[in-house]
Amino acid sequence: MRLECFVSNAWVTGSGEGRPLINPVTGSEIARADATGVDVAAAMNYARSIGGAALRAMSFAQRGALLNDIAGVLIANREGYEQTACQNSGNTKTDASVDIDGGIATLKYYARLAKGLGDATCFVEETRDQLARDPVFFAQHVMTGRAGVAVQINAFNFPSWGLWEKVAVATLAGVPSVAKPATATALLSYQMVKDVVDAGVVPAGVLTLICGSGEALLDSVTTMDSIAFTGSAATGEMISSHPVVRTSGARVTIEADSVNATLLGPDAVAGTPLFDLAVREVVRAFCTKAGQLCTNIRRVLVPREIHDDFAAAVKSKMEEFVIGDPADATTQVGPLINMAQRDEAEEKISQLLRECVELARADLPEGLNEKSSFVAPRLLSCSDPASASIVHGVEVFGPCVTLLAYKDLDQAMCLAAAAEGSLALSAFTNDATLQVGIAAQLGAWHGRILFVDDTVGRNHTGHSIVMPQCVHGGPGRAGGGEELGGLRGLRFHMQRTAIQGSPDMLDRLQAAGVVAQL
Ligand code: NAP
Repeated sequence: MRLECFVSNAWVTGSGEGRPLINPVTGSEIARADATGVDVAAAMNYARSIGGAALRAMSFAQRGALLNDIAGVLIANREGYEQTACQNSGNTKTDASVDIDGGIATLKYYARLAKGLGDATCFVEETRDQLARDPVFFAQHVMTGRAGVAVQINAFNFPSWGLWEKVAVATLAGVPSVAKPATATALLSYQMVKDVVDAGVVPAGVLTLICGSGEALLDSVTTMDSIAFTGSAATGEMISSHPVVRTSGARVTIEADSVNATLLGPDAVAGTPLFDLAVREVVRAFCTKAGQLCTNIRRVLVPREIHDDFAAAVKSKMEEFVIGDPADATTQVGPLINMAQRDEAEEKISQLLRECVELARADLPEGLNEKSSFVAPRLLSCSDPASASIVHGVEVFGPCVTLLAYKDLDQAMCLAAAAEGSLALSAFTNDATLQVGIAAQLGAWHGRILFVDDTVGRNHTGHSIVMPQCVHGGPGRAGGGEELGGLRGLRFHMQRTAIQGSPDMLDRLQAAGVVAQL
């Protein structure tokens, strides 16, 4: 099977050999993706002119209805997607749901938001500043969709959610999407877009799909375009420093890797609900997508006094892990997505072991195919985290978690920040002073902080799960990007313009927009 590209409202096949997509359990090839010879520059022009004009002519409510229609097509075809996620991404049923249902839920969330925005096509800020002595000349800010395309380059671990969360935000802002899934797992993105196109719900030029290499996208960006990239820091750096990207004036946002942490307060001792809740969350970090989540817990900051109890509790859960074929309904931990990822994860674990010891390793099942991509879940411990550096800087994109024993809260705060910016931090404590201290001292280092206390209990969405209502992204090492967060996510695709003029003119403008402060 060869994945095609959807460009200028037509499906085309690349003319090169292409790169293989494989089944991570058997190691066998299931498809090829290639964009050689595809006229990406023409596709981007088509999207800018035809797709952009179509979207800009639609109100927010109409764009929301479009997102709802896309979600409807995906729901109708959902069953096949689960199978693909299993075959190409090594997803268990639960893993597949995080990706597929996460994508659908995000589309539906933005569709609901859009409904409330009605017939408007732009946002107007409520406040107005008088700029002259007489009250005849004022300034007010409006936000309008940029007249370019939203180039969306995605990572391999979320072929559905990554695609649709970016499409949802750009579409609502009135900007056409040019999506490029990571080649290794592009089959699911391809099937979904094919279903949506076949259903005829998307106007021409609003959605473009490039399966295969994405270099031509960077060569073809122009001033009004934006690039939303998700992937490794190294590729992100290459994209932002690409000569055409740099000189074009296109906007770039980077969602990169990060070494996220969870922090147990001194009150999260064994026998308390907090302790059990923290164990549950760390166990999830091994199981969900076999640890291949950008927001996953990599480091557990635990008081020295609690370290051994916590390690024992996690270890006993690891002994029960069912690892194996994701198609088997009892499997909890599937494979990584290919052998390259498996080898990279093992190599990164070896790096961590220069500063850590291995406390536990879950057994892989007997008789695995030598081409399969399983990594045995590993629990490590770093006894001197204050002097360590690798453990704060190396992301193992797989089922590996490291315990870091801290001596006091000042040290815990330093350790949490030592990853130099991450997507998500969680804290398990009932101590109100500590909660406020964490939010105040560590907020600047993280895109999201989850506090679990006895009131929240199990009623939270999880350390790793990205909710469309909340900002996704993180400072520093995490790329400095910001996606989602309700209407805030639209900012990236819109231009804020100071409009200066008479009160009457500004009144008319205000009537055409939706009052909102993004
Ligand atoms: P990657 O190797 O950096 O690739 C990411 C994307 O960039 C892929 O679509 C890749 O395409 C594309 N790409 C590579 N070179 C390119 C070029 N010259 N021009 C245009 N596109 C290019 O990352 P990955 O291995 O897919 O993803 C794993 C990493 O992503 C992990 O480190 C993880 O932490 C991070 N991640 C971050 C987030 C977040 O939201 N912050 C979410 C998920 C994952 P090909 O596949 O065709 O090479």
